Amino acid sequence: MAPSRREFIKFVVAGSVAATCPIDETLLAASDSKAPGGALVHGEHFETCHLLRDGHSFDRPDATQKADIVIVGGGVAGLSAAYFLRGKDWLLLEKEPGFGGNALQEEFEGQIYGTGSAYAYHGDEGDQLASEIGLKMPFVNMPDPTIVNKTYVPDTWKTGLEQLPYPKAVRESFKKFRDEMMKIKVREKMADLDAQPFSNFTGAYAPEVQQWWDGFGPSNWGAATEESSAYVGITNVQDLINGGDAKRAILPGGLGCITHKLVEVLQPKYKERMLDNAAAVAAVQDKDAVHVTYLHEGKLITASAKAVLICTPKHITSRIVMSLPYEQKAAMRRYRYAPYPVVNVIFDKPVYNRGYDNWCPGSVFTDFIVADWTIQKNPGYLQKHNILSFYTPLRELQRSTLLDEEDCKSLAARVLADFQKLLPEFNVDPVEVRIYRRGHPMFMAVPGHYTKTRLAASHPMDRIFFGNSDSGGPESLTSEAVRLSKAGTEWAELVLAGKPGAKDLAERALAAVPR
Ligand SMILES: Cc1cc2nc3c(=O)[nH]c(=O)nc-3n(C[C@H](O)[C@H](O)[C@H](O)COP(=O)(O)OP(=O)(O)OC[C@H]3O[C@@H](n4cnc5c(N)ncnc54)[C@H](O)[C@@H]3O)c2cc1C
Repeated sequence: MAPSRREFIKFVVAGSVAATCPIDETLLAASDSKAPGGALVHGEHFETCHLLRDGHSFDRPDATQKADIVIVGGGVAGLSAAYFLRGKDWLLLEKEPGFGGNALQEEFEGQIYGTGSAYAYHGDEGDQLASEIGLKMPFVNMPDPTIVNKTYVPDTWKTGLEQLPYPKAVRESFKKFRDEMMKIKVREKMADLDAQPFSNFTGAYAPEVQQWWDGFGPSNWGAATEESSAYVGITNVQDLINGGDAKRAILPGGLGCITHKLVEVLQPKYKERMLDNAAAVAAVQDKDAVHVTYLHEGKLITASAKAVLICTPKHITSRIVMSLPYEQKAAMRRYRYAPYPVVNVIFDKPVYNRGYDNWCPGSVFTDFIVADWTIQKNPGYLQKHNILSFYTPLRELQRSTLLDEEDCKSLAARVLADFQKLLPEFNVDPVEVRIYRRGHPMFMAVPGHYTKTRLAASHPMDRIFFGNSDSGGPESLTSEAVRLSKAGTEWAELVLAGKPGAKDLAERALAAVPR
């Protein structure tokens, strides 16, 4: 029987399953990428990180390299630290073959799309850095629609509350929820709210209210209402209703546009200091220096530095940094992470260009965005492909789904099937489906994380600063990665100069609550 068009959809599977622990290339490379429905696999190496996880102790040769500052991790935090420290003597280590971490852009036949971090807020630290390096991120300029029960509802939380395709009593419950949530003084009650689950609040309304937030939470902060901090949940409700979404700004690669541009700006001058395929395995602090050992081209090398910025996620950091105080290491290990594949579906004709970030309660994905939304109206712009990015956060127990190529394909197929069911006009075959899988990218904003765990995990040591967006919050945000990198570079300058105040500066940065 001749295969149907649908069987010819090419799946491309890429990404790291466990942040440090990506896919074993040999595990997956067996499939024939040329066969109908076969997978083209972009794998990465995870052996080093699994060894770290399993407590393997690597040799630590004597230092043969010196730098004033070593930066570990080349995501937006590490790259922005390198940018803020330009002119200083630094060395950046990134374990993957490329930089960007969870803010990574890709392209399909020259058309850019994002595989992770989606948008910034105009004027936040990410946006400020973007304009400094010459990127103007246009406003999204569109409130979020909901597509449910075969109905498109523009501006869900304003005019949409009258239009949601639910019985009147349910719509009234949405409005009551909105009104009640707006009365809560979140800043004043931060500690109390952060100590309890958001479901304590959503549970009092129609189940459809909780269902909506059970999509929004996992997509934005890795957790459904029952596992989310009420502080994070209610802050987001208020922000959405107060029109915070009007400040969103982005380019087609999501916030991967910033890491991409940072690499473009830094590499011509600092190529030698930016090592990829360089996985740090140990950072040992003594009185005058920190010795960072890393694996590069099969060799263990040690660099000695006066100050180190560790910009890796805490579950990895806790395994690299030696002699962490017991409580601090325990707090780092308490971080929880949502496995988070993003499925990009590529059409060769316009299928959906009506709204930027579209919420779809009851689907296998939480929401999907239109990759080129903010440039569609640029003079002369021609949309060659309609690329839609589907956010498909999973529960922690589902992480193993990402290790199995067949499971990944089946997830992608379910994404496509659910999309095609949303509205009749969506029943169109794509030309390609790409899955980008990440096992531990987004720390979950669970109760107690922001006001307790994060602070206990992130105190600086005398010569080691703990960057990464997961030192900030209240949810995983690129702007927090940049804000803390800025603080980390000021901290490093004080440490290098032997001036007092470095620790206080770092503690103030951790305690600051972002706008
Ligand atoms: C699907 C998704 C959607 C998101 N949407 C948004 C959004 O819309 N807006 C927003 O602001 N944020 C969003 N985020 C969050 C945002 O992506 C992150 O907060 C941000 O990218 C984190 O950057 P980082 O540099 O702190 O950490 P990471 O991106 O985790 O970077 C850490 C880097 O360290 C490297 N590394 C790890 N171990 C080692 C080692 N041993 N040695 C050397 N290097 C190592 C990793 O490979 C990685 O490159 C989203 C995240 C995801 C996953």
